Amino acid sequence: MTDATQIVLAKRPVGDVTADCFRQETARLPALNDGEMLVASRFLSLDPYMRPRMSELRSYVPPFEIGKPLTGGSVGEVVESRNPRFAKGDLVMGLLNWATHTVHDGKGLRKIDPAMAPLQAHLGVLGMPSFTAWYGMKHICRPKDGETVFVSAATGAVGQVAGQLAKLAGARVVGCAGDDQKCQWAVREAGYDACFNHRSEHDTGAVLDKLCPKGIDGDFENVGGRIFHAVFERMNNFGRIAFCGAISEYQDKDPLAGPPKMFTIVQRRLTIQGFIVSDQAALLGDFVNEVGGLVKAGKLKSRETVVDGLARAPTAFLGLLKGENFGKLIVKVG
Ligand code: NDP
Repeated sequence: MTDATQIVLAKRPVGDVTADCFRQETARLPALNDGEMLVASRFLSLDPYMRPRMSELRSYVPPFEIGKPLTGGSVGEVVESRNPRFAKGDLVMGLLNWATHTVHDGKGLRKIDPAMAPLQAHLGVLGMPSFTAWYGMKHICRPKDGETVFVSAATGAVGQVAGQLAKLAGARVVGCAGDDQKCQWAVREAGYDACFNHRSEHDTGAVLDKLCPKGIDGDFENVGGRIFHAVFERMNNFGRIAFCGAISEYQDKDPLAGPPKMFTIVQRRLTIQGFIVSDQAALLGDFVNEVGGLVKAGKLKSRETVVDGLARAPTAFLGLLKGENFGKLIVKVG
């Protein structure tokens, strides 16, 4: 019998998430049935999509349940197995509980090679956020040499990769981030042509006019709200908007309506495409080949924030929604 420390959803947030939405518990896990295994979490990824899942909304994934552990992309180690596909000692990644241990049937888990990269990289630059950036940039924004691409949340887990991929395609790349240090990293390390601080620059339109004098051909949209409005107004004819997320809305009880002049989409022949990366599993191999190669060749920089201990996951998650993380936010569980 194993006792797991786990974080459960204590109540649904209204507006901003508060610490009392989470509760830490100890749970006695049941003995394994045939086909099951016990996985000890090593690293847990914290991601913005978890915020909408805390509410009871119609979405592409069901909401978290009150009184049950939250789940998240994780790297874990199989410590006991009655599943013929996995053996004790295998390192796996996939959805596990916010917990020290999870009983799992193996569905949706895949083995990872620890020699390939540090384990937590499978949650960041070699994982879901990077796959998201690659898909949205390559298949929707499709930047060409000489075009201008804008990336909001430019130094987040997704944005940092999206910007670098646009740069490698030959575009002028402009981003925004929530503090000067992040903006400096974007330009000096990730190769953005320019990055502005969206907290201190209140006239987004004026700063975009300065930094994107030829307008915007591709927008990789992570934030939504007033930043998106200003970008939308500056889209060029035949521009492409990869609508990846709208983090500014996730906690907003009264989110901004869409841009006022929707006829702009017709006048400028814009493509606006929302996407969810989990629909693109068939392209995972292409992503691994291309982005894995770039990482190996040292052509893709990445930042991460690693928080030590499962007990810190709720506070770290509150911080993510305020931009306190720099790069991919990961919890070291064990
Ligand atoms: P990160 O947690 O790495 O980065 C999120 C960043 O967003 C924060 O660090 C903060 O940075 C910024 N931010 C937070 N609140 C606001 C706000 N109100 N206004 C402006 N910026 C804000 O997130 P990811 O990179 O993993 O995710 C980025 C986006 O991509 C999210 O919208 C997420 O939901 C979406 N996503 C979509 C997927 C899909 O399949 N469609 C898959 C994965 C992610 P800063 O300091 O710069 O403000």
